[in-house]
Amino acid sequence: MRPDHEVVIVGAGFGGMGAAIELKRLGIDDIAILEREDDLGGTWHVNHYPGLSVDIASVTYSYSFEPNPYWSRLFAPGAELKRYADHVADRYDLKRHMEFGTLVARAEWDDSQQFWRVTTDEGVRTCRHLVTATGFLSQPHTPDFPGIDSFGGRIIHTAAWEDDHDFTGERAAIIGTGATAVQLVPEIADAAEELTVFQRTPIWVVPKLDFAIPHVVQKMFAMVPFTQRVARVVNTSLLEALMVFGVLHFKQAKPGNRLAALVAKAHLRAQVRDRATRRSLTPSYDFGCKRPTFSNTYLRAFNRSNVSLQTQSIVRVEPDGIVTADGEKVLVDTLVLATGFDLWDVNFPAFQIVGRGGRDLGKWWRENRFQAYEGITMPSFPNLLSLNSPYSYSGLSYFTTIEGQMKHMRRLFGELQRQGRTTFEVTDEANDRFLAEVTDHLQSSVFYNGDCASARSYYFNQHGEAALLRPNSTLATLRQMERFPLDAYRFR
Ligand code: NAP
Repeated sequence: MRPDHEVVIVGAGFGGMGAAIELKRLGIDDIAILEREDDLGGTWHVNHYPGLSVDIASVTYSYSFEPNPYWSRLFAPGAELKRYADHVADRYDLKRHMEFGTLVARAEWDDSQQFWRVTTDEGVRTCRHLVTATGFLSQPHTPDFPGIDSFGGRIIHTAAWEDDHDFTGERAAIIGTGATAVQLVPEIADAAEELTVFQRTPIWVVPKLDFAIPHVVQKMFAMVPFTQRVARVVNTSLLEALMVFGVLHFKQAKPGNRLAALVAKAHLRAQVRDRATRRSLTPSYDFGCKRPTFSNTYLRAFNRSNVSLQTQSIVRVEPDGIVTADGEKVLVDTLVLATGFDLWDVNFPAFQIVGRGGRDLGKWWRENRFQAYEGITMPSFPNLLSLNSPYSYSGLSYFTTIEGQMKHMRRLFGELQRQGRTTFEVTDEANDRFLAEVTDHLQSSVFYNGDCASARSYYFNQHGEAALLRPNSTLATLRQMERFPLDAYRFR
């Protein structure tokens, strides 16, 4: 029996689009891209809160093969990323493959037919290959504070932003001080009468060296693409150096982390006048344990007379405000949840995936450690490419991760086509080898060498393992993705 599609890709963000582009380059056109949202762009479609922008310079945070010469700033605003996603979809003729408003609930491998059965809210599809590109930060986390249902004002999660909500004259509160809040706090502080920021754990903030890219430079990038390539190489090399010298994630991290923390502390001193507030805003965990943030406006917002930092823990929510552990109540009209996303509990994987012999991916990961060969394939899951897997994310530009995975797909599907086979499956040996390798590399990372005890971070799973980031340089990852041994796979 022929399946409905050669490939089903779940997710129309940059990961899913990258996979589709690579498959089309390989001559595979029978692709369905299923997306639960009503438009493409993934995180950049869903998130549109004020102040949203990238935190990796745009020359690097984009596909290397599809540069955009017209980024308006070094760190482009979110809306430009959405427009870029639309442009890519048009340029690579992806839109005709996309089906919006389609939620995938389950996928099961049919070993007798050698294809996947994908259950959506509209029925069952079959496909030879399944690619999951559902994103890491795609399931909003809404904390279950006692009494939250009784709150009489508006509650807005940053991932479901209400563009027409007007904060003018309001008493606003924001819960959370992660990367999203760092971008949003200065914006609400400008608009609201009063803003209370509820902080459970402070975040490291370093200066953001951002500027508008002059039109003449944009024109130069458009007319002489080589110049933008040079800019990309320079910026990417700087990021890579941060990684190699241990500021971020890997290697014996102490000197690099300490230096970065000193920069962040100097930034805090320069930005915040009140000493007690500075103390409250100083993290007690090592730089690098949690994704650090960049901003020139977040810390400064705490100097404003209409902004207060609340570090008491939240006891309950009442119809008109939030009660903290010291018994005080903060009166609130609009409550903004910048509380991030659920990752490990609900998103690994984002829907039930049952492989060969009835192996349930989520169950297997939880019972046998989170693992994926080269962060993309798992034994007993033939013809499945899981782009959001343990140890897959480089931790820097997500496009490096995507392009590494595209290279892996090129090599894997190239070999499949060369041998005239239809089914691939990674071997247990290759998977075990890779898991042992990353486990070994991680021993010298900030996650296990540094002081991360007080950092709650999605870098760590429910067992305290730092199983999200791939612990080597992005250059090494890209090289490995092009050269992995072909006998890591069995072809049928
Ligand atoms: P996040 O980093 O997970 O931060 C969530 C915040 O909510 C944390 O401060 C957390 O405190 C707090 N929180 C969660 N539950 C809470 C509770 N029950 N009580 C009190 N506080 C609670 O989420 P995010 O800020 O949305 O950022 C997620 C990631 O998205 C970032 O790391 C970044 O990778 C990405 N991002 C990127 C950009 C960009 O590229 N420009 C912008 C925004 C976000 P604890 O720390 O104590 O848990």
